[in-house]
Amino acid sequence: MDMIARTLPIRCDCGHIRGHADLRDHQARRAVCYCRDCRMFAHVLKRADAILDRHGGTEVVQMSQGRLRFEAGHERLACMRLTANGLLRWYAGCCHTAIGNIPANRHLPYLGLIHTCIDHRTAGHSPESLLGPIDCRVNAHDPELRRMYVDAHERIPARTLIRMAARALGWRLHGDHLHSPFFDPDCGAPITKPRILGADERAALAASIRA
Ligand SMILES: [Zn+2]
Ligand SMILES: [Zn+2]
Repeated sequence: MDMIARTLPIRCDCGHIRGHADLRDHQARRAVCYCRDCRMFAHVLKRADAILDRHGGTEVVQMSQGRLRFEAGHERLACMRLTANGLLRWYAGCCHTAIGNIPANRHLPYLGLIHTCIDHRTAGHSPESLLGPIDCRVNAHDPELRRMYVDAHERIPARTLIRMAARALGWRLHGDHLHSPFFDPDCGAPITKPRILGADERAALAASIRA
């Protein structure tokens, strides 16, 4: 893959937030997560149609936080947690474009960059041509999905977890956590205080997803 094509332009729908993901010499992989929390996040943002595929999956690029840079609108990033211990789920405060999910522990600089913030029109490439085929589909609890896709797994397979952990550890050793756009480099806290979803909000969402 050529070097230029491995830089993904990032843009929220309204254009206030702009940046890029530098994936040159980086082991980034495409994955789809069908879990309930990822679906819930899409619904909280009221962007389910844009974010979720027809089976309720969220496509992400698994990469290091240290490879993501914002050139504009950094201060407009907003963060949500579906539960007090949940992932930090980032989105554009201006227009609710989903940006990505990260662990709350900044020492694991893993990022699941959500496909909706990748500006493929500017890049002039399809996700396939940029990053290859989907590497794995996880949390596919519906047996129909596993019949449809040979690479769909009911949970996250152990070998995938181990591989992801090894990559995240490598990025940590490389110091990528110090270059994350999501954490204040001085105090180590998230750049904006995550909003934790209330129990009633969560229950209402769960009901609407079931419907
Ligand atoms: Zn925006
Ligand atoms: Zn998920």
